[in-house]
Amino acid sequence: MEFNTIIEPFRIHSVASIAMTTQSQREKFIADVGYNLFSLHSDDVLIDFLTDSGTGAMSRNQWAAIQRGDESYAGSPSWLTFKAAVQNLFPFKHVIPTHQGRAAEKILFTAIGGAGKVIPSNTHFDTTRANIEYSQAEAVDLVIAEGRDPASLHPFKGNMDLVALETFINARGIENIPVVMMTITNNSGGGQPVSLENLKAVSAMCKKYSIPFFLDACRFAENAWFIREREVGQSERQVVDIVREIAALADGMTMSAKKDPLGNIGGWLALNDDGLAAICRNLLILTEGFPTYGGLAGRDLEALAVGLSEVVSHDYLKYRIRSTAYLGNALAQMGIPVVQPIGAHAVYIDAKTLLPHIPALHYPGQSLAIELYKIGGIRGCEIGSVMFGRKPDGSELPATMELVRLAIPRRTYTQSHIDYVIEVCEEVLKRAPSFRGYRITQEPASLRHFTSEFAPL
Ligand SMILES: *Cc1c(COP(=O)(O)O)cnc(C)c1O
Repeated sequence: MEFNTIIEPFRIHSVASIAMTTQSQREKFIADVGYNLFSLHSDDVLIDFLTDSGTGAMSRNQWAAIQRGDESYAGSPSWLTFKAAVQNLFPFKHVIPTHQGRAAEKILFTAIGGAGKVIPSNTHFDTTRANIEYSQAEAVDLVIAEGRDPASLHPFKGNMDLVALETFINARGIENIPVVMMTITNNSGGGQPVSLENLKAVSAMCKKYSIPFFLDACRFAENAWFIREREVGQSERQVVDIVREIAALADGMTMSAKKDPLGNIGGWLALNDDGLAAICRNLLILTEGFPTYGGLAGRDLEALAVGLSEVVSHDYLKYRIRSTAYLGNALAQMGIPVVQPIGAHAVYIDAKTLLPHIPALHYPGQSLAIELYKIGGIRGCEIGSVMFGRKPDGSELPATMELVRLAIPRRTYTQSHIDYVIEVCEEVLKRAPSFRGYRITQEPASLRHFTSEFAPL
């Protein structure tokens, strides 16, 4: 018999206290930092949904592995343990450890990017896009149309538009496309998964045109679980087997180990091409470290090896996906518009629909994120016109969507924390018509969402 209550498939082993605050205290805290949630002290946050990156809880086996960390400069046993754990899931010939995902991206695009090159993806993550553009290459998003519609219920909204990709390859020329990327799950597109069928089709197209195919695989296990749940013929398979099949379709990958590998820091670049690997290793030595530790300590490598074995557990993944859906479905049921279907790592509230009285350039997402904090101490992240509105030419345009992302750290909050969030959201919904817009009083030259200051209108 299956019961409805989602129990966390773990017991708490070590705790971090949450300091309780009142609404009037929080109103002062947020005003003091110019209404920018990134500038808050995290001790003044009750439920921190800013990101799921590096914010998860490690298991006692991961902490035990940290004690085994061997800090030899070259050829450490911790390196061999890490490499074996990566290759067990992703059997690429070369594994290059980095301190974060973006370091892997920086190395890869320094090697293969450059002026005149174009790199298509379903949707590039912001650091991926930034590293491509920094190399003077162009980053292009070719996700299916359903992936841009918050209300569409397509089961794999992260899929690549295959017709658009083939047209793109023919228009731009094989010689100008050094790689085709796929982000699984599609983080910037609402955390939506990519189907195995679509991955196979993209892989086949890349083979046909002899273009390398790389995965941005930060949430590979969550994506594989969605394949098992939603794709015809996959429901009896082990997640590890689905992951290995996905890896076999690609020529390489970039990874942030702060996501599904259950680490607080780390990343890697993995690939089959010997010549490219040699170039990347030399770049690694220049900026990250020796090839057997990259940007990491031996103890980090040990913790990640254990994390990789834990994240493919069906009990864990079932809990992870169901507990995120529990929050998303509760918000949808009370009438808060959320991006559908609910993804794995976050719930995205559609602030444009919730706050129709606030124009895009008065930042409805920022207004909602501030109220979630003031009313309930919940810290989310605006993904809308604050983040994307300022164009390189200095003009300001509304973003396509005005979202507030509630990203769920892995194995960190319990169901009662989530029930509290749901209660806060009920109050937010009631008070929504009274929320006001904001204006920016101070703004940096780029990536303004991190440091801008705001004032209420
Ligand atoms: C987090 C993330 C990255 C960048 O990784 P960092 O470890 O934060 O540098 C790249 N791609 C995707 C899809 C991500 O979610």
